[in-house]
Amino acid sequence: MPDKLNPIVEPLIQWFEHNKRELPWRQDKSPYHVWISEIMLQQTRIEAVIRYYERFMSALPDIKSLSEVDDDALMKLWEGLGYYSRARNLKKAALTIMNDHAGRFPEEYDEIIRLPGIGEYTAGAIASICFDKPVTAVDGNVLRVVTRLKADHADGLLPETKKRIASELKAILPPQSGAFNEALMELGETVCLPNGAPDCARCPIREFCAAYRDGLTDQLPVRIKKLKRSVCEKSVFVIRDPSGRLAIEKRPDTGLLSGLYQLPNIDGYYSDKELYGALGEWGLSVSSLVYDKDAKHVFTHIDWMMKAYAVTVREPCGRFLWVTEDELKTTFPLPTAFQKLLK
Ligand code: SF4
Repeated sequence: MPDKLNPIVEPLIQWFEHNKRELPWRQDKSPYHVWISEIMLQQTRIEAVIRYYERFMSALPDIKSLSEVDDDALMKLWEGLGYYSRARNLKKAALTIMNDHAGRFPEEYDEIIRLPGIGEYTAGAIASICFDKPVTAVDGNVLRVVTRLKADHADGLLPETKKRIASELKAILPPQSGAFNEALMELGETVCLPNGAPDCARCPIREFCAAYRDGLTDQLPVRIKKLKRSVCEKSVFVIRDPSGRLAIEKRPDTGLLSGLYQLPNIDGYYSDKELYGALGEWGLSVSSLVYDKDAKHVFTHIDWMMKAYAVTVREPCGRFLWVTEDELKTTFPLPTAFQKLLK
């Protein structure tokens, strides 16, 4: 029913013009800037992303520099954002742009979506915001706004709901598709907030909103599907040699957090005697082992429940890399899951 959505176009664009937040990637419509920010924003809040974005841009100001960056340096720039395969895909896509598009970011949706790591939403966002192409960009924010506007009770987690909403929005897309898409995203991020807490008093399209009219804002969007999660218990060792250097090792090249560094760890919880045994098998002569803290880290499908142990050893062994705190900070990408054990 696209006709029900028609009236929101003008007020929404007007509102966006006067209320949009000043964000570093909004200073121009460079597709490189929009692309990097959109990938960073996929699982991280805007306030946190700004810092990462600015650091990334000073180190890698353009597509060429991203295509040439050393893998460890790239992971270091991404450290803390999680989902490291996204950073790897950024570099792959930059290489594709350099090789197949003469270093210029492609303008057409069909070309953009073929780049590694770019899905429908990101391709739509770049094509519309940077080039005003007539395409939609439906993320969780946009979906929430539209299901509330229409009092639409379809399961917002189903791909077909997203697809239908995209086609309804496409039917009302104005020539300034970028401003319209961004306005919907901005409304979802700043006014039509999740968890039943929209700030309808500030909403520029309140008069067209069925959920507001019918008092349904706390029930929409409907989200039925649940992710199956699993739990992995881990014993993690913060091991120091007599000069205070820390033991780290590289994770395997495939799987979760692949290619990053980690603190030595084993799956499961154990008695002190068993832990001494495991450390001995690694060739370590332990002078002390003390339980330090519990910590949890949540990934998409799995929770790590970690018990951290502070270990001192009589001398370093060849199995691990032994690094100073400074080297760890500047050179070796260590995922947040492990960093929280060093605090
Ligand atoms: S009126 Fe409220 S629920 Fe409706 S779109 Fe605006 S903020 Fe969202």
